[in-house]
Amino acid sequence: MMDRFQKQRLKMVETQIRERGIRNPRILEAMSKIPRHLFVEEALADQAYNDNPLPIGEMQTISQPYMVAMMTDALDLKGREKVLEIGTGSGYQTALLAELADHVLSIERIASLAGNARRILDHLGYYNVAIRVGDGTYGWKEEAPFDAILVTAGAPEIPLPLVEQLEIGGRLVVPVGGRYLQELMKVTRLSEDINDLKKENLGGCRFVDLIGEYGWSG
Ligand code: SAM
Repeated sequence: MMDRFQKQRLKMVETQIRERGIRNPRILEAMSKIPRHLFVEEALADQAYNDNPLPIGEMQTISQPYMVAMMTDALDLKGREKVLEIGTGSGYQTALLAELADHVLSIERIASLAGNARRILDHLGYYNVAIRVGDGTYGWKEEAPFDAILVTAGAPEIPLPLVEQLEIGGRLVVPVGGRYLQELMKVTRLSEDINDLKKENLGGCRFVDLIGEYGWSG
């Protein structure tokens, strides 16, 4: 989409994403196209392509572009997947997943954020996204299993229902740890046995709390 932020967007992709080692051409192309400035309030539009998270209201944030790219890269999407996202937030990450997978189900606990995200995603034509308001730590059982699950808030431990709702071979990416600092974990389900998991630590990160039954109590 050509707009007045095109130059800033391409610079963001080059300096914050590609030069830091994300080489997946589908991610680079999608991030070059998605108008990130539309996912923040107008007063912050000029900062939308900066190298940091930004407030989106309700004490929540739109994640740093590099973090969005890194988590998405870890999901290893090829285009045919059914993806579950926990923590819709602004909807920016949701739009990226919608570009890279077949369809996306996203759960947000704060109704006003879910409403804003829905509006902008509809405006941009992302009709392969379903959004539900609720506690995403339960997952979305009726729609399971998922090829990939992404949690965009920090959990005290890996939420068990999400592991149970992973397809065999499916990937779950979730920040796990304390309230202020977490490790970004990638969990791959290897067989029917939900204890048969490959766990990789992708490095330190800092997210807002995942609040819910299998998260923090609030
Ligand atoms: N990826 C989003 C973006 O770029 O805009 C950022 C998401 S923000 C860091 C985390 C979101 O998770 C917040 O909107 C928060 O309300 C939501 N959240 C926290 N706990 C949740 C839960 N149990 N279920 C669903 N959403 C939750």
